[in-house]
Amino acid sequence: MRLLNYVGGKWLPGEERGVPLVDPTLGIELARASTIGIDFGAGLEHARRAGGTELRALDYATRAALLGKIAEVLLANKKDYYEIALANSGSPEGDAAIDIEGAIFTLQYFARAGSVLGNAKMLLDAGLVKLGKDDGFQAQHMLTPVRGVAVLINAFNFPSWGLWEKAAPALLSGVPVLVKPATSTAWLTQRMVEDVVKSGVLPEGALSVVCGDAGNLLDVLTPDDLVSFTGSADTAMRLRGHTNVLRNSVRMNVEADSLNSCLLGPDVKAGSPEFELFVNEVVREMIVKAGQKCTAIRRIIVPLGLADAVTQALTALLSKTSISNPRNKDVRMGPLVNYQQLASAQEGLSRLKQDTRVLLDGGAPSFKLVDADPSVGAFLAPTLLYCANPLNASHVHNVEVFGPVATLLPYKTRDEAIVLARRSQGSLVASVFSDDADFLSVAALELANIHGRVLAVNTDVGASQTGHGNVMPMCLHGGPGRTGGGEELGGLRALGFYHRRSVIQGPVNVLSKVGVSATTFNI
Ligand code: NAP
Repeated sequence: MRLLNYVGGKWLPGEERGVPLVDPTLGIELARASTIGIDFGAGLEHARRAGGTELRALDYATRAALLGKIAEVLLANKKDYYEIALANSGSPEGDAAIDIEGAIFTLQYFARAGSVLGNAKMLLDAGLVKLGKDDGFQAQHMLTPVRGVAVLINAFNFPSWGLWEKAAPALLSGVPVLVKPATSTAWLTQRMVEDVVKSGVLPEGALSVVCGDAGNLLDVLTPDDLVSFTGSADTAMRLRGHTNVLRNSVRMNVEADSLNSCLLGPDVKAGSPEFELFVNEVVREMIVKAGQKCTAIRRIIVPLGLADAVTQALTALLSKTSISNPRNKDVRMGPLVNYQQLASAQEGLSRLKQDTRVLLDGGAPSFKLVDADPSVGAFLAPTLLYCANPLNASHVHNVEVFGPVATLLPYKTRDEAIVLARRSQGSLVASVFSDDADFLSVAALELANIHGRVLAVNTDVGASQTGHGNVMPMCLHGGPGRTGGGEELGGLRALGFYHRRSVIQGPVNVLSKVGVSATTFNI
């Protein structure tokens, strides 16, 4: 099967043989993707002219309703998406649900949230600003939708959610989307775009997809276009340094590597409810999507006196994880997405081992696969490491192993715990488990400026908390430093990236005309 690109209003296969997409469990080829011969420049121009113009002619509430219709299209085809995720990403049903249901939930959220903006077509940023003695001449800051294309360059691990969590605020803003999914798992993204385009829900040109090499895509971006990138810090650096991106000051949002931590408070006793909540959260984060989640827990920070108890509790649960062919309903964890990722995880693991000793060896033969061949599938079992001297270690705070791998870091004092959590040089999320409200609040404030999100958990919210790894559309996603300095979601704050802020200075009667089709919303 060839994955068809959809650009310039045409379905195009790309030339030559293309790159194979492979089933990571069975090792068989599923499809091929090629962008050779695709005219990215013409495709973007079509999206700007056709898609952008049509979308901007609609108001926010109408575009919000379109998001609801996209969610309906996806719901109607959901069964096929689970099959594609199973084949192409090796995802058991629970892992696929995070990607697929997460996308639908996010679209539905933005459909509801966007409807409150009503029939406006742009946003006023606060009120009039008086500039001099004369009230007749004032200034109005405003946010107008950009007139280019939102180019979404996505990572392999969320082919569905990664598309829609970005496309929802872009389309709501009136900005057309061109998505370039990671080639290895592009099938699900391509199929969803195909279903939505063929449903006719969106204006022509509002949604395009290219599957395969990015070719000269970055060379043909204009100052009106935007890039929203998710992937590794290395690729992000290359994209940021691209000559045309620099020349045209192309706005870019980056979501990259992250060394997230989970911190157990000094007040917690072994076996207590907070202890159980902590252990269950770590286990879930290590095995969901086989640890291939940007928000997964990589560093487990625990009081030195509890290190043995935490080790025992984690190894007991992790060693029971059934790993194998995700077609088997009893299997909790499938393979990594391909052999390249397995090799990359093993290489990272060998670096982590320079700082650590192994508590649970995911490469050990004792991990029996239920019904899969380890010489064919890209399997890695949960691996738990222990770093005895985390303050002086380097790799554990720097190497992101994108798989079911995490390291226990013991601390002696509260201050040391905070220092260790902050060592990530910028991460997406840190979570803190404690029943001491003072410790939770102090830790949250100490960690906030180096993380996009801090999750504080005590027993009161044990059942209702949304989880360390779950990205909620109403909350911010992103992080400083190593993780890219980007911001996504956060409710209607997400619209900020797809609008330009400018100020208009002039006679107040002109400013009131300018504001006629706008609503005030401070982003
Ligand atoms: P990657 O290798 O950096 O690839 C990401 C995307 O960039 C892919 O679509 C890739 O296309 C594309 N790409 C590569 N070189 C390019 C170039 N020169 N020009 C334009 N596009 C280019 O990352 P990955 O292996 O897919 O994803 C894993 C990484 O993503 C991890 O480090 C993880 O932490 C990070 N991640 C972060 C978040 C977050 O929200 N912070 C979420 C998910 C994942 P091809 O596939 O065609 O090479």
